[in-house]
Amino acid sequence: MKAQILVVEDQPATLDLICDVLKEEGFEVQQAQSTAGARESIRRAAPELVILDRGLPDGDGLDFLKELRENPKWTSLPVLILTAKKAVEDRVLGLKGGADDYLAKPFNTTELVARVEALLRRSGKAAPPPARGS
Ligand code: CA
Repeated sequence: MKAQILVVEDQPATLDLICDVLKEEGFEVQQAQSTAGARESIRRAAPELVILDRGLPDGDGLDFLKELRENPKWTSLPVLILTAKKAVEDRVLGLKGGADDYLAKPFNTTELVARVEALLRRSGKAAPPPARGS
């Protein structure tokens, strides 16, 4: 079974797009549209990876990330920051803030999936690649 992923994004179209792409890849997907929702989902669902938007209606995704990193339970949870802020300083800030990876909007969905799979591989949570009959 593939990993469970929490997608935190407040724009419905983007949220749907990400969730659809991940579901197509066989992931189990939870969604939240605010930091409050993300906080609740994370306790309830214990995801194995989080895709986190920065501009959320009730705060900056980076602040939520900081909260996660301060909790021993979530210190090493892989987090991919997704944002329209693509200036170099913003990327650096995200990575310094504890993000494992960073993807700027507009993003390519194939790249998103590849990054998600790479993060899961690194964290040792990815399912082994399916055996393909030649
Ligand atoms: Ca947003």
